Amino acid sequence: MTPEQILRQIHEEVQICTKCDLHFSRKHGVSGAGPANADIMFIGEGPGFHENETGIPFVGGAGRFLDDLLESIGIKRDEVFIGNVVKCRPPGNRDPQTDELAACDPYLERQINAVNPKVIVTLGRFSMAKFMPNAKISENHGQAVNIRGRLIVAMYHPAAALHQRSLRPILEADFARLPDLIVQANEFPEFQDENDGKETPPEQLSMF
Ligand code: URA
Ligand code: SF4
Repeated sequence: MTPEQILRQIHEEVQICTKCDLHFSRKHGVSGAGPANADIMFIGEGPGFHENETGIPFVGGAGRFLDDLLESIGIKRDEVFIGNVVKCRPPGNRDPQTDELAACDPYLERQINAVNPKVIVTLGRFSMAKFMPNAKISENHGQAVNIRGRLIVAMYHPAAALHQRSLRPILEADFARLPDLIVQANEFPEFQDENDGKETPPEQLSMF
């Protein structure tokens, strides 16, 4: 299957998935959106009200802010892939639970493998925790970590910056560094999977 076909298949699976209780209140599964060959992938938390209504990620207030942040660095939304750690809306926008994150993670793994982005930007602490389980967003936001030839950059969630105004300039500054990080990531050699799928040993993680 081509990467496009894999993404399409994931989207269809998500619409009828019953692997966690979030499916009970789902109107639309929100698998993600963007080109299958995107260099950058943004990973948020989960659909909110408007995303559940439309099936499209980041179309509410946080989405408009994300659009502004992208525009500020000269990147168009349709150039990047935008996904979430859970594909169905947590009721009342509550935090996703550990069992829900675990149930949904294989979809995200398949999306990452299909798109094979050079840079992954995690938005908020739940998607950060997938890659950096011990990181603290207040300390580690904006730092890029090289995990198997791919840069992972943790950032605050745009919705958090809408609620807490002081986070806004921090998020804007982290976004402003992205173009340079993308150039850096493009210079990495393709990762050779010598570990055969095992976790990257900590000594292979380097900070920028
Ligand atoms: N917040 C998220 O984390 N994801 C969305 O898709 C929308 C809002
Ligand atoms: Fe399935 Fe993920 Fe939706 Fe849970 S959140 S029902 S695992 S698609």
